[in-house]
Amino acid sequence: MFLLLIEDDLNLGKALLKLLRQHYRVHWVRDLASASEHLAAAHYDAVLLDLGLPDGDGVDWLRAMRRKGSLLPVLILSARDALDDRVRGLDTGADDYLVKPFEPDELLARIRVLLRRQSGAAQELLTAGDLTFSSEQQQFYLQGKPISLPAKEFQLLAVLMQSGNKAVSRERLVQQLYGLGQDVDSNTLDVHMHMLRKIIGKERITTVRGFGYRLSFE
Ligand code: CA
Repeated sequence: MFLLLIEDDLNLGKALLKLLRQHYRVHWVRDLASASEHLAAAHYDAVLLDLGLPDGDGVDWLRAMRRKGSLLPVLILSARDALDDRVRGLDTGADDYLVKPFEPDELLARIRVLLRRQSGAAQELLTAGDLTFSSEQQQFYLQGKPISLPAKEFQLLAVLMQSGNKAVSRERLVQQLYGLGQDVDSNTLDVHMHMLRKIIGKERITTVRGFGYRLSFE
């Protein structure tokens, strides 16, 4: 499970990152412009959204995102505890609202509910040829048998699966693995791709020259 945390407060952001990383993959951004860039570049399972951000109001950003058709689960984290603000947040399309300060355990519980609801709603079982991915169990199966993958190879395969038979660019794969703005040697991607092919069989991933990779659906 992959979360996007949007929080401009440095200390709170650091504390949340530390807490959340014990359970999930997390990218942390501190303004709405970076949040939009990250959402365009990677697949997240949920967003944790602060409202007062340096380049705008989280509620306006959320409204724009919903208008574009995004169904991504959003949990608002805000110090604004007026009933009005909570109602406005939920009406705009937030799935839940947690008032700061909150207990870490309550935050984790709310995230679990959010993700469970999401996986229940989607009942996602992705397939590509004889490969299957259960998003609920976070497990890949090859010819019906569970396979275990190292973390980076797991992420790579998840992105390829979510893209169906469309090719995914190298750039996007690198962003997915390391986050935006990271200066990553693109050979690193080749190393992980080589390892992934070794595990699942190299015929299952097709190289699209000059662009990236896609899964083979044969
Ligand atoms: Ca703030």
